[in-house]
Amino acid sequence: MRAVVVREHGGPEVLNLEEVADPSPSPGQALVRVRACALNHLDVWHRRGIPGAPFLLPCITGADIAGDIVSVGGDVTGFAPGDAVMILPTLSCGVCERCERDEDPLCRSFGILGETCDGGLAELVAVPARNLFKKPERLTYEQAAAGSLSTLTAWHMLVTRAQLRAGETVLIHGGASGVGSAAIRIAKHLGATVIATASTAEKLEAARSIGADHLINYAKEDFVQGTRAVVGKAGVDVVFEHVGGEVFERSLRCLGWGGRLVTCGATTGVDAKVNLRHLFFKGQSILGSTMGSRAEFAEIVRLHADGVLDPLIDRVLPLEEIAQGHEALETRAVIGKVVMNP
Ligand code: ZN
Repeated sequence: MRAVVVREHGGPEVLNLEEVADPSPSPGQALVRVRACALNHLDVWHRRGIPGAPFLLPCITGADIAGDIVSVGGDVTGFAPGDAVMILPTLSCGVCERCERDEDPLCRSFGILGETCDGGLAELVAVPARNLFKKPERLTYEQAAAGSLSTLTAWHMLVTRAQLRAGETVLIHGGASGVGSAAIRIAKHLGATVIATASTAEKLEAARSIGADHLINYAKEDFVQGTRAVVGKAGVDVVFEHVGGEVFERSLRCLGWGGRLVTCGATTGVDAKVNLRHLFFKGQSILGSTMGSRAEFAEIVRLHADGVLDPLIDRVLPLEEIAQGHEALETRAVIGKVVMNP
C-alpha cells in the first residue's frame, strides 16, 4: 500500500510517500481501507519531534480516520466487510478501573492512533474493533474524519471537564481552528452564549457562520477588553483554552466567579502565572483535558447523525500533497480541518 512514513523528525521533507507492506490485523482488529484522514497539530508535532515525547519512529501518522472495512478478525461481532466506519482515535485497555469509569484518557495504556502506533495517512490501517463506529450516512468520509479527534477533544473539555450549561457564556480561543470550531458547535448545542476570537475577518466570519454570538479580532483588539465589552466585570463562565503562555494568563482575567478555564494545549508556551488570590477567592477552576472517552465518542457519532456537529473543512488534498497540508496547519492558514484522501 501507499503510506506517508515519517522515519525521522524534521521539516516537511521527512514526509515520505512510500510503498510499504499492508498492515496485518491482529485478533480483535479490523483492516480498514482509508477513505479520508484529517490532519491535526499532533501530526505536525510528531513530524517535528518534541524533546522527551514518546513519538514512534518510523510511523505512519494520522489519527482522524474514516473508511470502509476490508476484513475483521473472527472474534469481532457487529461489523462486516464493506461497512463504512469512523474510528475512535484513542487507544486504551478497556478493562481497567479508569476505562470502566469512561475515563479512558487516564488509562495507563492510553495511546493515540498515528502517534503510538501506525495511523491513517495510508491506503489501509489496522485498528482495534472496539474503535469502530458506523459512519452516519449523512456524513461524507471527509466530514467523518474531520469530525473525530478535535470534536472529541472539544466535547471532553466543555461537557465533561468544564460542565458548560445552557445560559452560560464561554470564551473560545481560535474559533476558526479545528478544535475551536468544534467547540463553537458544541457550546451552541448546549445552549451557551459564545464569544469567539480569531485573527482575521475571514476567520471571524467562519466562527459567526457556525454560531458564535460575539466576535473578537485578537490581532486588532485586546481579547480581555473585548470580553469585558460583552460580559462586563461579571466575566465569562468558561474559557476554552488551547494556546498557552500569555494567552492562558490573560484568559484567567476574563473568568468570572465560579468560572472554569479548561485547557488542552500550550502551543505558545507551557509556563504561565496564576493569580492564586483570584483563583481561590472567586472559586475558580483550572482544568486540564486530553482527548476523550469511547463513551463520549459514541455520543458524538450520534450527534453527527443528527447533523448538529458538522465540522468545518478547509480543504481536501490528495496524499501526494501531505507537505502542503502540514504547511497550511503550521502557518495557521486554515479555517477548520485539512483532510487528506489516500
Ligand atoms: Zn484502561
